[in-house]
Amino acid sequence: MSEAVLHIKAAYQKRVKGGYPLLLKEAIKNEHDLQKEGTVVEVLDEQNQFIGRGFIGKQNKGVGWILTRNRDERIDERFFEKKLSAAFNQRKRLFQDPDTTAFRVFNGEGDGIGGLIIDYFDGYYVIQWYSEGIYSFKEYVIKALDAIASYTGIYEKKRFNTDGQYIDDDDFVEGERGEFPLAVKENGIHFAVYLNDGAMVGVFLDQKDVRKTIRDKYSKGKNVLNTFSYTGAFSVAAALGGAAKTTSVDLAKRSHRKTIEQFSMNGIDYEAHDIVVMDVFKYFNYAAKKKWVFDLVILDPPSFARSKKHTFSAAKDYKNLLKEAIAVTEANGVIVASTNHSGVDMKKFKGFIDKAFQETGRSYQVLEEHSLPQDFRTNKQFPEGDYLKVVFVKKLGK
Ligand code: SAH
Repeated sequence: MSEAVLHIKAAYQKRVKGGYPLLLKEAIKNEHDLQKEGTVVEVLDEQNQFIGRGFIGKQNKGVGWILTRNRDERIDERFFEKKLSAAFNQRKRLFQDPDTTAFRVFNGEGDGIGGLIIDYFDGYYVIQWYSEGIYSFKEYVIKALDAIASYTGIYEKKRFNTDGQYIDDDDFVEGERGEFPLAVKENGIHFAVYLNDGAMVGVFLDQKDVRKTIRDKYSKGKNVLNTFSYTGAFSVAAALGGAAKTTSVDLAKRSHRKTIEQFSMNGIDYEAHDIVVMDVFKYFNYAAKKKWVFDLVILDPPSFARSKKHTFSAAKDYKNLLKEAIAVTEANGVIVASTNHSGVDMKKFKGFIDKAFQETGRSYQVLEEHSLPQDFRTNKQFPEGDYLKVVFVKKLGK
């Protein structure tokens, strides 16, 4: 079988040869030759020299991913099994940890296959397909899972535009269907998850280290405000760490019952905590008027959000969000500032923090910084995949 060929423009050759795995649309010389989703392509330079082999799969700025730089390596069943097997081996310790039954086992380009994410939830695998192209390799991926892992069931999330063809089959793929909520653990914290209910299952696994840090080092006796709280995972971590009280604020109505559920999973009396369904910006005004202050304020907004009164973009508005948070933080209290916006790197993010404190006339101290946990393996050649930035900042003062 002859392979489709993509030529990389001279201006991009250095980067692509240096290991950059994403095939950017603008880097392709013969763009009109772009094949259909899932086609295996040979990637060559302008002199017809082999650079790598990959596949077509449109995803954000990319039109595909390079999977191997070895001319002799085929993209076949064995390839997928090899990559998955290596990824599972890397997470061996997590599979053996009785306190953690939910974690990531395959992280896209970080584990060598762009667009493919696999999470583990106590006997179940959830596969996320980020392009139609990677989805066309589904059979190989399932076969690889069958070969290297034992499981109760497999679910999937198609995170690409299926042109309205998507059939809502509750995301089930094979094995046994689960009963939801499914109870999972992470460093001893219990979470209820729903694998059959849309893209968000109930907990964001990438914040694992931050939850543990909040529980173990920053919560004891503290009055905690958790904004953009979703199912209240940070509030639960804080309560387990001995917080005097937590307040969870989220705009989504479902967050109320979902937060009660996560507290209950951990044997915490949710009535001792506040769960507020409200626009965070409105809540900040409200709290400031009432002169409420908190010892620990957690900020974990989405990169972009639109509510009735506000549009929020992390790149534009994070500094102002921080100023609101500073206003309701006790002197010597701590702000946990988090963003998953890939367009805001750590340097820029710390710039927002610096500016916010400057403009409020307060001084601060950075206590610690976090990025993705180890199971969210990243590729050094693809820094935009290392998207999580979390800074613990102390508001200094009398
Ligand atoms: N911090 C959460 C994840 C946040 S997901 C965790 O650790 O699990 C983003 C959340 O922000 C969503 O639940 C969404 O409903 C909420 N949200 C978006 N805009 C908001 C706003 N203006 N006010 C309050 N919540 C908002």
